[in-house]
Amino acid sequence: MTTKSKPKKMDLNKENYHSIEADKQYMSVSQFHSFRQCEAKTMAILNGEYKEPETNALLVGSYIHAAFEGEEAFAKFIEEHNGAIFKTRGNGKYADFEMADKMIETLKNDPFAMFALTGEKEQIYTANLWGVDWKIKVDNINHQHKFFSDLKTTPDLHKRYWSDKYETWVSFVEAWDYVLQMAVYRLVLQEALGEKYTPYIVAVTKENPPNKAVLHFDESRFDFEYDYIETFIERIIKVKTGEIEPNRCEKCEYCRMTKKLNNTIEIGELIYA
Ligand SMILES: [Zn+2]
Repeated sequence: MTTKSKPKKMDLNKENYHSIEADKQYMSVSQFHSFRQCEAKTMAILNGEYKEPETNALLVGSYIHAAFEGEEAFAKFIEEHNGAIFKTRGNGKYADFEMADKMIETLKNDPFAMFALTGEKEQIYTANLWGVDWKIKVDNINHQHKFFSDLKTTPDLHKRYWSDKYETWVSFVEAWDYVLQMAVYRLVLQEALGEKYTPYIVAVTKENPPNKAVLHFDESRFDFEYDYIETFIERIIKVKTGEIEPNRCEKCEYCRMTKKLNNTIEIGELIYA
């Protein structure tokens, strides 16, 4: 066996941050989350064999993010997605984007929310944690007041979701693994900058009129997330490097597309699989 020298990691920037090459070289919160959902799907994405469909909800989320990134970024985003935003017959924006404008306005009219969004936008940091290099892109980081914040949209602030991870009812924050995201971000920042930054989520809802909140986290929540990562990261790295075969969830779009039946399942398995 030959010993391979460790290849130098690529330098990340806004253009290559979301590339397959960057995802191959670095772990990220969304990649970890994706591996936990379905290893087979995540490997197919990393191998360039499968692409997750771009939903309109994702596009609306990016539109709102761009609005707070700055005028230039917002204008560029609108230009690039003109066809998806504006109706063809020239009478305004599609309903989802009309709603997005209301959500943007709601936050812009609230000085407290706007303070929580002050700082440098879309900053990239990396750090080695749990034996693997992580990349993060922070929506907003305020070096003066040592906090960072992430803008999230949700249908309803108070809706309850069942969570297998937490084995209880949770809010949208846990349901979408945003606590894990904040936990990793603060640790990467601590490694990269040598200081503790406090995470916040600025949430705005799709209700009419939109609801809003700035959310903080009880510190004890982060330990659960670090334990959770520690439990699964070793297996994920082995799957990623091809050392072990990825598991199929048999539920996601990728698995449904590529499924071949070879056995029956007992009905009791249906709701616990
Ligand atoms: Zn799957």
